[in-house]
Amino acid sequence: MLDINQKKLFIFDMDGTIYLDNMIFERALDLFSLIRKKGADYVFLTNNSSKSRKDYLNKLNFMGVDVDLENIFSSTLMTIHYLKQHYPDKLFFVLGTNAMVEEMKEAGLNVLTNYNESVDAVVIGYDTELNYQKLVDASKLINLNKPYIATHPDLVCPVKDGYVPDCGALIELFFAATKRRPTIIGKPHPRNIEFILQNMQISKENAVVIGDRLYTDIKMGIDANLDTILVLSGETKKEDLKSASIKPTLVIDHISKLYQMLKI
Ligand SMILES: [Mg+2]
Repeated sequence: MLDINQKKLFIFDMDGTIYLDNMIFERALDLFSLIRKKGADYVFLTNNSSKSRKDYLNKLNFMGVDVDLENIFSSTLMTIHYLKQHYPDKLFFVLGTNAMVEEMKEAGLNVLTNYNESVDAVVIGYDTELNYQKLVDASKLINLNKPYIATHPDLVCPVKDGYVPDCGALIELFFAATKRRPTIIGKPHPRNIEFILQNMQISKENAVVIGDRLYTDIKMGIDANLDTILVLSGETKKEDLKSASIKPTLVIDHISKLYQMLKI
């Protein structure tokens, strides 16, 4: 039985979980301050690599969320960590937004955004600034059998009036063109949880994952042996749960419910 009041770290997804577009959900701010009042803490983990962690910090602070850069985790941050571990001092071709490229450069990685035969690996993200030349350059390098890495697998990104193609859709495009699939870094891989727990010095039993997607947020939590809470305020609908093989520890309609469940 999940005892939410025993938890020391709450790992929140962002889009569809704590806000939609620029609208923070009701009771979210109260929930965050209650968590801190209880002596626990919270972090945010997003797969969306189109924006930098600083962009998320600004967005969250603007919404009134009390958070520091150290409490924001992203698939770009995880990719940087992965590349430094597996390909130290190598040269990377990156298909991604300017924000993603800059974040990688600031972290000390050697990054190119144009075709160059001497690059050691290809990295793709959620590129909302995509053009055809980038597709050409990436395809040529993937075809040269360079190590190929993608920040996250999400096929679509939710927006106010529907869905738009995300990094996972690009993975499918490149598969059609090159017959290769990348190593995927972000959610649902449990490495994201291990990284956060290590950074925050928290054990698995004391942490919980809260998200709106079964096949990324919840699957990651289950694979990392954490308790998981699915919120129905985003992508997953109640009827999806019946046929799903991924079973969260708890399902709630909205994070305001979590606020009600927490006791001082
Ligand atoms: Mg989400």
